[in-house]
Amino acid sequence: MTFPVVGMIGGGQLARMTHEAGIPLGIRFKLLSDTPLDSAAMVAGEVVIGDYRDLETLRAFAEGCDVITFDHEHVPTEHLRVLEADGIAVRPGPDALVHAQDKGVMRARLDEIGVPSPRHRIVDNPADVTAFAEEVGGFPVILKTVRGGYDGKGVWVVRSEADAAQPFRAGVPVLAEEKVDFVRELAANVVRSPHGQAVAYPVVESVQVDGVCDTVIAPAPDLGADVSARAQQLALTIAKELGVTGHLAVELFETRNDDGTPGILVNELAMRPHNSGHWTQDGAVTSQFANHLRAVLDLPLGDPRPRARWTVMANVLGGDYPDMYQGFLHCMARDPQLKIHMYGKDVKPGRKVGHVNTYGDDLDEVRERARHAADYLRGTITE
Ligand code: ADP
Repeated sequence: MTFPVVGMIGGGQLARMTHEAGIPLGIRFKLLSDTPLDSAAMVAGEVVIGDYRDLETLRAFAEGCDVITFDHEHVPTEHLRVLEADGIAVRPGPDALVHAQDKGVMRARLDEIGVPSPRHRIVDNPADVTAFAEEVGGFPVILKTVRGGYDGKGVWVVRSEADAAQPFRAGVPVLAEEKVDFVRELAANVVRSPHGQAVAYPVVESVQVDGVCDTVIAPAPDLGADVSARAQQLALTIAKELGVTGHLAVELFETRNDDGTPGILVNELAMRPHNSGHWTQDGAVTSQFANHLRAVLDLPLGDPRPRARWTVMANVLGGDYPDMYQGFLHCMARDPQLKIHMYGKDVKPGRKVGHVNTYGDDLDEVRERARHAADYLRGTITE
């Protein structure tokens, strides 16, 4: 029997790490990438260079694939419907994926299934924003373009009606949300397969700096068992109700109710491996990448439980030094347990070019080791 071919659309680091996870299983991996220099295109065996927005490119790519999956959410759903009509398995399918593409559709659906979100409304102009702000307790409010945002691009904190003009300029529908006074950001990651098996990873804390994920702590420190179970249950419910197959990341805000009890609100969804799950490579029995592959192939899912008391992931952002390899000597010598994952991307200031994982029993120490390595590789510290 031949091993299956997984076709992944998008050549970023998520594809690179998914490919890596398939190697020990003998899974064949085919990639559709924008350029030969994309992170995964540099390492995958079978690479097609082409535009994922072009239907004929997608159809030619899908030929010979047992399943199509994604490193990003941007493939037009109408094209995916054509692939499905051609008899290709697309996971997650277009009916699920649209909720990760369009924040307006996502909010409407979460309302329908009773999942708590920040108060929100689609707005058409700055006067609408003012009316919305008055209903939710005044400015500031958050405006988001419903499509095309990432890493905080496409998100504005708006303090007055005059401030509200910018988001409308792109000509894309705009979603207004109350500005949540959250205690911290969490992520509940689950994986679901087509026949309905699902697993939930421990809920993690994700620390954002300037709209970009900086550090992830697994499990989220001091998170009550009840809130944690509620967050996992919400993510499993969303995966089931939206028909998600593969990895689903549910980004959450932890809030404090007036009576001091914690609450959770859903911020957004990602239907692919996610930055908040990178810790699983070294900190869980089965990584998010391995489980994403198992799920899209409808294989039994792997154990999501942690392998250490604490695991910390810190993103390595590009700094002023283009040569990060120089930092390996010091980082590896200082911490033999350090796990480094580089994406092979050109170093540009602020760009995610890799991450490190550390694990152990003492959270302060585990966090310090991850922070040190990420900062040292970036060049912001020198010892
Ligand atoms: P992106 O698609 O760019 O990741 P998000 O919707 O996740 O956009 O928003 C990016 C960041 O902006 C969030 O991680 C959070 O810190 C902040 N943010 C987003 N929505 C709200 C909100 N309603 N209230 C407060 N902060 C928010």
